[in-house]
Amino acid sequence: AIDPVLPERYRHQRISHKETLEDDIRLQARMLEQMNEGVMLIDSREDSILYANAGTERLLGYSQGELTEKNWKELSEANSFRHVIDDLIRKGSWQGELKNYHKDGSAVWCAVSFSTFTHPVHGEVWLAVYNDVTARKAAESKLRDMTSWREAIMDSANVSIISTGPDGIIRTFSRGAEQMLGYSSEELVGKKTPFIFHDQDEIIERAKILSKELGKEIKPGLDVFIDRVKNGSIEESEWTYIRKDGSSFPVILVISPVINSEDEMIGYVGVARDISEQKRMDRMKNEFISTVSHELRTPLTSIAGALSLIKNGVPGELPDPFKELVEISYNNSRRLSFLINDLLDLEKIASGNMHLIIQKQPLFSLLEQSVQANQPYSAESGIRLVLTGQDDGLQVYTDSQRFLQILANLLSNAIKYSPDGEIVTISSERKNDSVRIYVKDRGLGIPIEFQKRIFQKFAQADSSDSRKKGGTGLGLAISRELVERMNGKIGFESYEGRGACFYFDLPAEPPAASGIYEKII
Ligand code: ADP
Repeated sequence: AIDPVLPERYRHQRISHKETLEDDIRLQARMLEQMNEGVMLIDSREDSILYANAGTERLLGYSQGELTEKNWKELSEANSFRHVIDDLIRKGSWQGELKNYHKDGSAVWCAVSFSTFTHPVHGEVWLAVYNDVTARKAAESKLRDMTSWREAIMDSANVSIISTGPDGIIRTFSRGAEQMLGYSSEELVGKKTPFIFHDQDEIIERAKILSKELGKEIKPGLDVFIDRVKNGSIEESEWTYIRKDGSSFPVILVISPVINSEDEMIGYVGVARDISEQKRMDRMKNEFISTVSHELRTPLTSIAGALSLIKNGVPGELPDPFKELVEISYNNSRRLSFLINDLLDLEKIASGNMHLIIQKQPLFSLLEQSVQANQPYSAESGIRLVLTGQDDGLQVYTDSQRFLQILANLLSNAIKYSPDGEIVTISSERKNDSVRIYVKDRGLGIPIEFQKRIFQKFAQADSSDSRKKGGTGLGLAISRELVERMNGKIGFESYEGRGACFYFDLPAEPPAASGIYEKII
């Protein structure tokens, strides 16, 4: 007869109870072997492993045969068993995490559950199920490490680190920010935007500049800070921060987007550094340079003047042995005055005292003036200056004095670095609403490794140049400042050994339809 408690599926089949039972046991054994978890049966008195499934083998690297010759305690970290065993005795079960060791020595963290039952042959045995959680453990520990790093960075007192949501509401406010601004994180987080410590007029002003620069309207709000950040770039600029007590200080603020794992932008983080001290030092340095330069210039002018008179024989003909010495003294006093003039120019630019009068000027005439002014120097060096093109009536927006100064710098370099007898060409090319002016030489060109530094102050490819060629390393730095202040750009192209071509762009305006251009044709 069929046992009434057997499952439905066996009821109407002519299978004996015994066969069914054997089938079920085989099925269960196969299920055990296929499980991902490690399953072990442990003899509670001997601590020996009576059975281990294939999952245990995969988990710990020992074969099932090797496992049954082992004591389960050998598999785990020592001193973790006592509470396992205590619980098993008291409650009949234990659940927790155990650190085990793979056959190769590496650690395998497992979530383990133990339960007891009584076996007809072995007496009290424990059934243990091991689940590998090593990856999760590693991720947790990495996360803990990252949190510690983040906290250490966030709490560093010298910078303010503030993060906001996409709406600009402050999410985190670092200890450095608290110290710098005098607000506590509780006052602002989740409640305010960073506008509370910004200068409103500065935001309005910056919105105007940005709108012009980007050619679209930027409202004086969050967009002033994040318009460029939205496209994934990092925004760095100078701002004024206002403390809770109303006092203010300058900062360099770097804003970057925060992107989550789904590639969505979930907010911004702004790191600000107080630059008041740096500004004070810069001011002091500039004042110092300016004072020293002014003090030097006056006596130097009279030295150079006197030497020039002596050199030209005004007080009387010099005996020959003196001539060369006076010549050297005169040349060096001139070099010194160039250097001092350059230093004074730089100081003016740095302190915002360089006043430019930008007006519409006829380009070609400026180029002609420049060629004329530099002709004597080039002739002295055996170099021919050639101005190509013709007057097409183009007008350029520039300060004419400073324009001539930039060209003088570029021309004197081109002349200085050209071999004897070569030519230096000056040309211009109209772009949409700007013009590019070129100064091209056939000298040695600019070494690749120097190209990155060429516009820095005091940068010279070869420091012996200043002695041989008489430069200061300031000419290009000043030229760049001047060009940029006249809303232009400066650059160069150079292939080592094949000369250099320096150029700068300035805003320009073609002649009106009835203007000079028509007349020339
Ligand atoms: P300097 O007074 O030394 O000429 P600049 O700032 O004008 O200072 O130039 C910096 C350096 O750049 C020069 O010392 C030289 O090494 C390099 N340089 C500038 N123009 C040229 C050029 N046309 N050809 C080769 N090297 C150049």
